[in-house]
Amino acid sequence: MGLAIPIETSARHIHVCREDFELLFGKGKELTFKAELSQPGQYVCEERLTVKGPKGTFENVAVLGPFRNETQVEISVTDCRKLGIEGIIRQSGDTKGTPGCTLAGPFGELKIDHGVIVAKRHIHMTPVQAVQLGVKDNDDVFVITNSFERSLIFADVIVRVSPSFALAMHVDTDEANAFAGMDNPTGVILKLFNGQTYSLQKWADELQNGINRL
Ligand SMILES: [Zn+2]
Repeated sequence: MGLAIPIETSARHIHVCREDFELLFGKGKELTFKAELSQPGQYVCEERLTVKGPKGTFENVAVLGPFRNETQVEISVTDCRKLGIEGIIRQSGDTKGTPGCTLAGPFGELKIDHGVIVAKRHIHMTPVQAVQLGVKDNDDVFVITNSFERSLIFADVIVRVSPSFALAMHVDTDEANAFAGMDNPTGVILKLFNGQTYSLQKWADELQNGINRL
């Protein structure tokens, strides 16, 4: 056991649907591959967009491919504050009721009425790795990070299992700064509460009431 999980930081980025992409970059335009990401089939594109909110703007935000069914903007809580929109933590694809923003490309502007999320931290892994690590899809786990001066245990980390994934934990820039990760940070799943999923909020409430289950 003790498989070290590489921790990767996701900078702000945008997944686009084809329809929105054509509105922003021009009819018939295609995504331009720039570099592979750790997850098989996922890549960074040459295309960049401007993200605008009521209070601020980010230029040159990376567009990721391939196309998705729905446009989704992934930023940090700090970014949300700068844009002047609410930061709502969600799993990828779960965008109902999230804030919108304005996207600007070389061809046009587009106002989306939802789709801006702060990605819930998660670990991608294959089914074999899930067995090795003793977890399953959608489990909620603790991860202890490897950091010299600011070690941190992340709670509420969602496990995502698929044969098309590669082992990696994804955090955003706020989370990466919080544990001052090194060049190639790693983490290990920490089995608390006999390895059962446990809500950190519930644990905190219990401790405040003098109940200690560990
Ligand atoms: Zn991810």
